[in-house]
Amino acid sequence: MLDSLAKRVRRIKDRPYKEGNIVYWMSREHRTGDNWSLIYAVEVARSYRAKLCVAFCLPPEYIGASIRQYRFMVDGLRELPARLRELGIGFRLLEGYPEVELPSFLFEADAGLLVVDFDPLITNKRWKRRVAGAIDIAMHEVDAHNIVPCWLAAQRRIATYDTFRARIMPQLTTFLTPFPDLKGMESRWDLDAPEPDWEGALARCKVDRSVPLVNWLRPGESEGLKALALFCQKGLFSYKEKAMDPVVSAQSDLSPYLHFGQVSAQRVARDVIRTEAPAEEKDDFLDHLIVMRELADNFCLHTPEYDTIGAFPIWARRSLDEHRKDPREHLYTLGEFERGTTHDPLWNAAQTELVKTGKIRGSLRAYWASKILEWSKRPEDALVHALYLNDRYSLDGNDPNGYTGIAMVIGGLYGRPWRSKDVIGKLKKLSYTQERIMHDLHAYYERVKEL
Ligand SMILES: Cc1cc2nc3c(=O)[nH]c(=O)nc-3n(C[C@H](O)[C@H](O)[C@H](O)COP(=O)(O)OP(=O)(O)OC[C@H]3O[C@@H](n4cnc5c(N)ncnc54)[C@H](O)[C@@H]3O)c2cc1C
Repeated sequence: MLDSLAKRVRRIKDRPYKEGNIVYWMSREHRTGDNWSLIYAVEVARSYRAKLCVAFCLPPEYIGASIRQYRFMVDGLRELPARLRELGIGFRLLEGYPEVELPSFLFEADAGLLVVDFDPLITNKRWKRRVAGAIDIAMHEVDAHNIVPCWLAAQRRIATYDTFRARIMPQLTTFLTPFPDLKGMESRWDLDAPEPDWEGALARCKVDRSVPLVNWLRPGESEGLKALALFCQKGLFSYKEKAMDPVVSAQSDLSPYLHFGQVSAQRVARDVIRTEAPAEEKDDFLDHLIVMRELADNFCLHTPEYDTIGAFPIWARRSLDEHRKDPREHLYTLGEFERGTTHDPLWNAAQTELVKTGKIRGSLRAYWASKILEWSKRPEDALVHALYLNDRYSLDGNDPNGYTGIAMVIGGLYGRPWRSKDVIGKLKKLSYTQERIMHDLHAYYERVKEL
């Protein structure tokens, strides 16, 4: 086995392999290509001459996700069974909560070892803990999401972006490697299983169906790789200058693919590095893709209270406390925020863009969150409301990047104290005029009106 692959694996339940099949419980990495968890499961199965089946467990609901994200996820998964079949690997769609469905499926599948995806979020960690408690076979976890496995990047929460950067950059020589070809299975899974009932399973989920679906981005591994190729030919060449501009955004739009694991960040990084784009554009993009994204996993893994104000740095909490009684010039309820009926046309336009498209482009995402803090009665309300809106409407919501991004804006995470102001204390103020100077807002309003 490749040395770098062995380092990506943790034994959550360290048992000898019990004769039987190998099951890979796919939960965060919804792809067959460039997937270290699948590569590992194949290696293990081949070494024991065992059969391999991939199981995906669709929970009836997931934190704040709505039908918008569920539809993107389920449609993205559809292409997997056929590709796995070609390799001699089975696929099983389970419906329900993993702690209930997985142990029973492992028994049915006569499993001797379970491979699982790494995930720093609490719900997923709880599922995994409960599955581990209910089975008595080996359970191995693979970090196929981060380029540098999260537990090797740092064993504690890192306080600054620069410290984290200094830690992971040297490790890229070990981990930013090419992917080996996925080998086919010698012992093939019984491949006569019927196609999963995707529509029925989705219909049985209890998610909020009032959020409109979006169609500007097509789900799945193949579509994600096409989006990556397009970005490498176009957006990347002006990324540094234009990524933050909400009108002519040169962002990659890859976050939903990365969030659902339909595309691997390591593949993105390797393809970007190989382009002819100027070095400063590539470096800026890679700083976001690698350093900021992997820092978010570090934050969530080592901060169990990542979705509460307890996760904010102490200076920010103290400062917000000192300003609790400051009169607010504007105060809005969650409903007013959600309908985009504040006094501020720029904020309302950003909220409209979020509701209609599932994305707020460029620097407006931070502006949007910062105003929720200014116009809420308490910082706790601001955090709850920002997370609710982000996770309900954003195609890339319910992600460590979201918890981190919102804590950065509303809670000063990775930041420093600024000169104190009413309501927001020492947090950085993002202002309307700054946005107006930076971007042609008229063009932005026009674009949002046309949505
Ligand atoms: C208030 C707020 C909420 C956010 N909520 C989310 C969220 O729910 N889900 C989410 O994926 N991102 C979130 N972000 C981070 C960032 O806004 C998005 O990752 C980015 O806009 C996604 O668009 P893109 O893929 O076109 O980005 P690009 O600019 O093309 O960047 C490429 C990739 O780099 C990573 N990246 C870029 N910016 C950041 C960042 N600030 N922090 C961490 N990783 C980053 C992402 O994986 C992104 O897909 C949030 C940021 C803020 C300020």
